[in-house]
Amino acid sequence: MRCPNCIMMRNKNIPIFVPHAGCPNDCAFCNQRRITGVMDVPSPDDVARLIRDSLPHMREGDHVEVAFFGGSFTGIPRNTQAALLGAVRPFLRAGQLDGIRLSTRPDYIDVDILDFLAPFGVTTIELGAQSMCDEVLFANRRGHTAADTARASRLIRAHGFSLGLQMMPGLYQDTAARTLATAEALIALAPDFVRIYPTLVLKDTYLADLYETGRYTPLSLEEAVAQCVTLKRMFAAHNIPVIRMGLMASDAICADGDVLAGPFHPAFGELVESAAYFEEIAAQLADVPDGEVEIVVPPHLVSKVVGNRRRNLYAWQRQFPGKRIRIRQDAAASACRVETGIVGSKQCF
Ligand code: SF4
Repeated sequence: MRCPNCIMMRNKNIPIFVPHAGCPNDCAFCNQRRITGVMDVPSPDDVARLIRDSLPHMREGDHVEVAFFGGSFTGIPRNTQAALLGAVRPFLRAGQLDGIRLSTRPDYIDVDILDFLAPFGVTTIELGAQSMCDEVLFANRRGHTAADTARASRLIRAHGFSLGLQMMPGLYQDTAARTLATAEALIALAPDFVRIYPTLVLKDTYLADLYETGRYTPLSLEEAVAQCVTLKRMFAAHNIPVIRMGLMASDAICADGDVLAGPFHPAFGELVESAAYFEEIAAQLADVPDGEVEIVVPPHLVSKVVGNRRRNLYAWQRQFPGKRIRIRQDAAASACRVETGIVGSKQCF
């Protein structure tokens, strides 16, 4: 039963990890082979129990989807897919869930697969595009091409599913230019949303071999943040939401110290947002005269605007030594703005 105390609508997922047991691929960055056998594919009973346990935490009016993630859902045996999807059906019919989302590889999508998924109530399909540069895809042993991603994306949209696309900046043989070209190619496919996962080096992967033998250098945290600021801006310009940036510490793929190297940060998305505010406000500061300057900020944005340990504020103060810069919270403000010639405000810090 959903909590009746709140009517604010939220998009909520009930995540269910489905490892791709027996995946025939060997992508450079993936440790599925290692975790296969450690993590079993959930049973239909597991799925039903997870949903039952999660529903009480949802609020009235939430848009709730079950999200099968982890491997390539459409690559697991068809009867297993049917059993897992079938376990969700009673909750869909009872109106307790709004849909099912799943992630898969571009080359595991065709008309037959989409016709199979639709009657189960699948609403959203996410493709691991990772790059739209064939040289990068080949170097990372992805086993599919950019054309596969384009073809699969068009099929998914033509069949009426929502389309999500995932990209991984910083893969082996990737460059900043190739990452930007990938973003442009993804934008052309008009996804409903995007996830950006800067490449991490996981233990027991080909990428780990490359890293340990000096043939691959992952992005630094600063480089990954800077690239994601640019990417987020590119997608925003086309009204494409970026719903996730970076892996969380709780992600199964990053469990138990599996990350050997790369731009991992437990709050990576916040770092990107904070860096974006830094650039936007620095541009505004450059346009105002020296003297007293206040950055007016809605209260809920203060920590992102000021930055971790006031990093942004100190950097602006260094960059603009002629300006006495302060932050002022303003509950009435809907966005950040820079004001000049104001002194003595009570809420500055
Ligand atoms: S990323 Fe997906 S397709 Fe590639 S090896 Fe891992 S599970 Fe298989």
